[in-house]
Amino acid sequence: MNELLFVVNPVAGHGRSLRVFARLRAVLERVPGVRCVVWHTRGPGHARELAERAALEGYGRILAVGGDGTVHEALNGLMALSPAARGRIAFGVVPAGSGNDFARNTGIPRDPAALATLLASGPASPMDVGVVNGHYFANVAGVGFDAEVARQANRLPKFVPGALTYVFAALWTLSRYRNAAVRIVLDGEILERRVMLVAVGNGAGYGGGMRICPGARMDDGTFRVVVAGDLPKPSVLSLLPKVFSGRHVEHPLVEVYDARHVRIEAERPLAVQADGEIVAASPLSLEVVPSAVRVIGLLGRSSDATTRDHAATAWAPRSADEPPTAGTSPAPGPGPVVERPVADPHQDGRVDTGRRVDIA
Ligand SMILES: [Mg+2]
Repeated sequence: MNELLFVVNPVAGHGRSLRVFARLRAVLERVPGVRCVVWHTRGPGHARELAERAALEGYGRILAVGGDGTVHEALNGLMALSPAARGRIAFGVVPAGSGNDFARNTGIPRDPAALATLLASGPASPMDVGVVNGHYFANVAGVGFDAEVARQANRLPKFVPGALTYVFAALWTLSRYRNAAVRIVLDGEILERRVMLVAVGNGAGYGGGMRICPGARMDDGTFRVVVAGDLPKPSVLSLLPKVFSGRHVEHPLVEVYDARHVRIEAERPLAVQADGEIVAASPLSLEVVPSAVRVIGLLGRSSDATTRDHAATAWAPRSADEPPTAGTSPAPGPGPVVERPVADPHQDGRVDTGRRVDIA
């Protein structure tokens, strides 16, 4: 008997997760040899506890039903296990939250039949996990503007739908945010900048389809680091829509690096988000844990190569003329990624717009 253990967050996606899961379960129960075991979370932090317990009780396929917050908690539960114990588990997600970026980053299909097949018998591939100040994350950790947006988004009333939550929160935050001077150490190389934000991507996106770290792969043992420099507010407004396609990195004040170890210190305490949860304040240290977990999905390519936005349309009724299974069809990339070597950021002819930071 193939047992699937579901950790269901019943309040994810403003309560939509229960409907999403009921539909999926109806499909799964018609699959011979599959048995669904369902545990519901009872509050913040419970998904972490349940995921760890499920692993200790010997379940081999553990699926989080919810959004990125639920995935974040479940992943932290699995990371409490030994590497050997984690290696026996296939972890997956049923996207049912207001932000489903982990599902997007791992190429999870939204079609219930395709998803049921994948969850029941699809292969699991090694996936890297990031760690920031002791908190594990799947998608993106960030400091500065995006963390402040996450803080505001978490405070918005729950009737604001998915991706719009972050747009409202971003506009609200923009009206009062000041860029900050930071010192960034990327695998030992130092950058000093005045920044709007620094995003450290294991996966490419967050916030319901924002590809802040385009081209990030969850299986290459390195972070994609995006440093958004001292952008004036009008530039932020014009760049914000481009984050959904990843084309914001074409702006001359946006730099892209790859690094395995990142340390960031700031002139004032800045909020730090990981998978949209506020986890700490600066200074922050980040590290990749390569091949930390095995994940059910379609890794092995740029994690933002999946088709866009499950969040706004997740599990909406599909008409007959829609293309089949979103997550399995190839999609055009997000446009060119401006990559620069980490070695010496001053040799590319660009002006260092930061100023020196005296870090106590
Ligand atoms: Mg990577």
